[in-house]
Amino acid sequence: MRFDVLTLFPEIFEGYRSQSLLKLAIERDLVELHTWNIRDHTEDKHQKVDDKPFGGGPGMLIACQPVYDCVEAVQQEGESPGRLLMMTPAGRRLDQTFVSELAEFDRLLLLCGRYEGFDDRIRQGLNPIEVSVGDFVCNGGEVPAMLVIETVIRLVPGVLGDETSSKYDSFAETGLLEYPQYTRPRDFRGLTVPEVLLSGNHEEIERWRTEESLRITRERRGDLLE
Ligand code: SAM
Repeated sequence: MRFDVLTLFPEIFEGYRSQSLLKLAIERDLVELHTWNIRDHTEDKHQKVDDKPFGGGPGMLIACQPVYDCVEAVQQEGESPGRLLMMTPAGRRLDQTFVSELAEFDRLLLLCGRYEGFDDRIRQGLNPIEVSVGDFVCNGGEVPAMLVIETVIRLVPGVLGDETSSKYDSFAETGLLEYPQYTRPRDFRGLTVPEVLLSGNHEEIERWRTEESLRITRERRGDLLE
């Protein structure tokens, strides 16, 4: 699976791509992550990519020309043009169903905004899938783009060591929150591990886990049961 991030701050991704699961996935050729600086595509002689909004208002907007040129240049790279995502609070809210849909693509281009966002003609003309990571406003689209990458690569075959582990995650196949988990020691400062998990009885353990998943989901996220 290939990700191309279009951003004004590609350096933000340097630490991210060199750690943990993503690093391993890249080394094992399961995932590619490329970053592109939108500013490299501006025709402005002062390297500007933004301008004031027509009609007035605070801040600056990212202008059409550098984004159109950057998207078109990046689409030329690689085997397929891929599907363009625009990171925006006005997009469809990211959840596990949406993540599974995004994981079906073999190439995603993630367009990250800054300042007050984008000239609306970028949305109108490039027809991106608009993605929001929640009902709040971040300073830029880079962390939202990382969230998309974080969640999608868990579904790329081979990325997780244990192939079953994304299946049992919260929100996955059952749509429920995960049951509580414990590791050693059995007693930590008087807090003990439920006896059933030490019983070796797999049927009992499965039943307990299902019940706990349901209990926690009912208590914390009743909306998921509807
Ligand atoms: N003025 C915009 C508004 O009110 O919708 C917010 C602009 S925000 C400061 C700058 C950029 O951060 C956006 O263009 C978008 O790319 C990104 N961003 C901020 N919050 C986001 C969210 N919840 N989901 C996805 N992207 C977000």
